[in-house]
Amino acid sequence: PIVAAYMAKTPRSAALHAEASAHLPSGIAHDSRYTDPYPVYVARAAGPRKWDMDGNGLIDFYGGHGALLLGHCNPAVTEAAQRQLGLGTHFGACHALELGWSRLVTQMVPCAERVRFTSSGTEATHMALRLARAFTGRRKVIRFQRHFHGWHDHMAFGVDNHFDGTPSPGVLPELAAEVVLVPPNDLEAVTRAFEGDPDIAAVILEPTGASTGMIPTGAAFLRGLRNTVTAHGAVLIFDEVVTGFRVSPGGAQQALGVTPDLCTLAKVVAGGLPGGAVAGRKEILDWIDFDVSAAKGREKIKHQGTYNANPVSAAAGIEALTQIRDGDACARATAAATALRAAFNRVLAEEGIPWSVYGEHSVLHFFTNPDGLAIDPEAWDANTQPVGVFKTDPRKTMLAKLYLSLVVSGLDPKGPRGVILSATHGEAEIAEAADGWRRALRMLKEE
Ligand code: PMP
Repeated sequence: PIVAAYMAKTPRSAALHAEASAHLPSGIAHDSRYTDPYPVYVARAAGPRKWDMDGNGLIDFYGGHGALLLGHCNPAVTEAAQRQLGLGTHFGACHALELGWSRLVTQMVPCAERVRFTSSGTEATHMALRLARAFTGRRKVIRFQRHFHGWHDHMAFGVDNHFDGTPSPGVLPELAAEVVLVPPNDLEAVTRAFEGDPDIAAVILEPTGASTGMIPTGAAFLRGLRNTVTAHGAVLIFDEVVTGFRVSPGGAQQALGVTPDLCTLAKVVAGGLPGGAVAGRKEILDWIDFDVSAAKGREKIKHQGTYNANPVSAAAGIEALTQIRDGDACARATAAATALRAAFNRVLAEEGIPWSVYGEHSVLHFFTNPDGLAIDPEAWDANTQPVGVFKTDPRKTMLAKLYLSLVVSGLDPKGPRGVILSATHGEAEIAEAADGWRRALRMLKEE
């Protein structure tokens, strides 16, 4: 019945997907859009809402994969981007916007003495690793299982279906030797890795925990990690692609009071347009500096991306960061998430479903463990993952139905795993979403 209800509501999406399958693998342009029987095609969006091709309204809980802290079509961001479209989309030259953009990043983000813009978060983590290797003269990186850092080769270990460190298809298996994979939040494993191997250049992690806090870390762990990495002369990289400018204007590093050597940024940094950045200590970023390379007689790291610091992304990014700087947008998104978490958990209790919704800041996760356990981030056992939230879960079918039932009920979460909120989600959206959550859960019970 859930699939039937979904299909009855979305005939235009069905037709578009049938045609798209002749042109795009699986008929989609992004992995996360893969949905059985077919994905929703969206026509337009505004603030916290979007509308599909059949005119169905959805409360948006994916927020451009987290890029849209200010919601869809923030007027000033839209105006800034539109103005820049008329002035030129690519100068092939320096422009004042890259200065304004970098000034905001270095003012707002604690570790950012220098910043280099990229076109995406994947490119940012790629460059951060290269910087760390050049700076330390070492080869390897420590990363944590289930922490996500984009899709380039070094990061294609330890994520979906490959928690054991095997590479996904097309990735060079030899690279596994350069990637030291440790369980999330396991400081002892990090220490052991450093002690057994002098060739570790960097440790990279999502500072609030795997998949933006699905497996939460804590400030105590981060402080311990900071000390360990420093003691071993390596580079600590916070991947703040989601948390940057969201958890606080200075990201998770500011909120948690632990400063990394480098951080990677994307999503919010470009105000909803394509863009990313690597930021951090001057002496590390100087590996991309022409002058220093000449002075020190060393070759610089090359970084030629066509769209680095693209003027349109820069214009949108400047406007977004300017709005975010005073902390109000982050606080509003967090307050909305706190209210939604309480509302969803209330509905779960009323419906007698032993799950819970958890998460800090403005990203929440569905803990579809049958025991509905609460989570203590400081005492997290890496072997006890939130059951049911990863694609590898045996209850995949149930989760797929949960997602469809949510869409039928007027919500568009980030798949069956949770929600991302924006500063535009208000009381009306929370109340509507709680009703939709209840309807979706009832559909699932009756299935
Ligand atoms: N790091 C993290 C923590 C992410 O969540 C993502 C994207 N979801 C990336 C890196 C990759 O960023 P992008 O999709 O812009 O390449």
